[in-house]
Amino acid sequence: MAVAFVFGAVVGSFANVCIARWPLGLSVVRPASRCPRCKTYIAWYDNIPIISWIILRAKCRGCGLPIHWQYPLVEAITGVLFLCVYLKFGYSIATPIYMFFCAGLVIVTVQDVIDWTIPDEISIPGIPLGIAAAVLAWWMPDTGLRVDRIWDAVAGAALGGGIILTMDRITVLMLKKPGMGFGDVKLLAMLGAFLGWQGAIGTLMAASWLALLIGGPFILLAPKFMPSKNDDHEESEQVESEDAPEVLEVVIDPTPVPDMRPSEYDSDDGITLEGHYLPFGPFLAGGGMLFLFFGPEVVTWYLSQ
Ligand SMILES: [Zn+2]
Repeated sequence: MAVAFVFGAVVGSFANVCIARWPLGLSVVRPASRCPRCKTYIAWYDNIPIISWIILRAKCRGCGLPIHWQYPLVEAITGVLFLCVYLKFGYSIATPIYMFFCAGLVIVTVQDVIDWTIPDEISIPGIPLGIAAAVLAWWMPDTGLRVDRIWDAVAGAALGGGIILTMDRITVLMLKKPGMGFGDVKLLAMLGAFLGWQGAIGTLMAASWLALLIGGPFILLAPKFMPSKNDDHEESEQVESEDAPEVLEVVIDPTPVPDMRPSEYDSDDGITLEGHYLPFGPFLAGGGMLFLFFGPEVVTWYLSQ
């Protein structure tokens, strides 16, 4: 059990590197992590997940630059998730697969909160990987994997991507404003590949409830915290904003994440896009994890009623 948590914290540490570097187009392998201010390379004993942050009292050893709490938080959450996967799936092939599935979703969540993008590095390879997992489960007995039919994984990916795409089109046509980002399309396609067609639907339902219960009050209570935001951050023209509040600031390793949140955006057809934007990626990721742990049981229970 402790091994699962420690392994998760180490993977979470690597996830931090991905979160800091992917948006900048940098390699996650080289160079080694450095303090962005004093450029001191971070020694291995100062790079122990969670523990080093506490020992260093959240400051760079060289120059005292604060290290953001995002780092130990991501490590701790990934550690807890790995522990949950181990407790749920035990000694099986499913366990390492679902551990990395969860780690990917942690990256998606943090990235979407910080700069409102869902990393293609996770969602695009995630689709064939989810289908590959179903192939493995179909070919090999007792893997513990949730989806063991290839068509189910393919249908899940198609349905997941299709639902969000349709919702986006309908929103655009009816409300003349963007619904969901294309990043969400790829994300639910990936979740569907791992969780099957029922998983795609269940994840979206769980994500909608999470968004309603958590996101709704958040928007109502913190209107200043959430700047108005356009839709499709991946394909949209990015406008530098001066008054966008800092949600999370990455202060180390290797350079700070630039503020990529545009405050306003005019689409090609002249529609000015307004309104509060809440990233949906974290809710999809949360819904996907809920379905991973409880979904099939809930579906079975529901069908038996
Ligand atoms: Zn420093």
